[in-house]
Amino acid sequence: MILEKKVHVCRKCQSEDIVKNGTNGSGSPHYHCKTCGAYGVLEPRQDYTEEEKEIIINAYQKRSSMRGIERTFGVCR
Ligand SMILES: [Zn+2]
Repeated sequence: MILEKKVHVCRKCQSEDIVKNGTNGSGSPHYHCKTCGAYGVLEPRQDYTEEEKEIIINAYQKRSSMRGIERTFGVCR
């Protein structure tokens, strides 16, 4: 069994002293930083770099299986 404990930090000041602040409309957890007072989304949608996009597109063209790609890279179409 693998237990992964994720530590979230404030995206503005990198402080670990943050508390949960509910969720937004799409269900993303929000946090409130006690150190700098910032409010933000705990896990913002990941942006892919151009390089990563290229790799994914190349893999898609070779295998032409959307489901396989989704599994491999964990991305949404
Ligand atoms: Zn902060």
